[in-house]
Amino acid sequence: MTKSELYEKAYEMLEKTTPLLTDCGELCNRACCITTEEDLGMYLFPGEEEMYEGEHPWLHIEKTSLTYGNGKPVFLATCDNHCPRELRPLACRIFPLTPYIERNKTFVIRSDPRAVPICPLARESSSHKLDENFIDAVANAFRLLIKDSEIRSFILKLSRSIDEQESFILRMTGTGKGKKGGRAAKRRYNRRK
Ligand code: SF4
Ligand code: SF4
Repeated sequence: MTKSELYEKAYEMLEKTTPLLTDCGELCNRACCITTEEDLGMYLFPGEEEMYEGEHPWLHIEKTSLTYGNGKPVFLATCDNHCPRELRPLACRIFPLTPYIERNKTFVIRSDPRAVPICPLARESSSHKLDENFIDAVANAFRLLIKDSEIRSFILKLSRSIDEQESFILRMTGTGKGKKGGRAAKRRYNRRK
């Protein structure tokens, strides 16, 4: 499968599921879409930029200094907060989850610690449980995507970057010296089928 075919399939698998059965945007006034900070955006997965060739005035894509694999650049997408829903990037479809490769190489789908400041569902204090169908759809989509070596390499890079961010937060909050605690960031949804 080409990258475009992979993403078309993944988009389709994630088209009908949302984090909650109800509209979670009502909990936070669509906090993940409405931002006043211009540099906030979402990383595109390897080759996903091909999905946005041509005119897409609602989306801006730029190369970042972050690389994965053999020095390949990561692209960052920022939007005007009003996307055609069927075209939203993969990162938006899976938020507040993320694919993650543990140090022992186990692949899991887990709560994304980068989502904690934005998303009430990513916090340990949340009384809302993510819909199991949503978690399964994300896991199934990534079981397909991770077969691609570049996507796997990107997820590996992302995972170590998440580790660094978690360690930093833990040091800043004084909950341990690099030791990871039982916060929302560590809620995991293991789907190893
Ligand atoms: S920030 Fe979280 S709760 Fe709010 S709309 Fe986004 S995914 Fe839903
Ligand atoms: S692309 Fe769409 S779903 Fe993603 S942040 Fe922008 S408005 Fe929200």
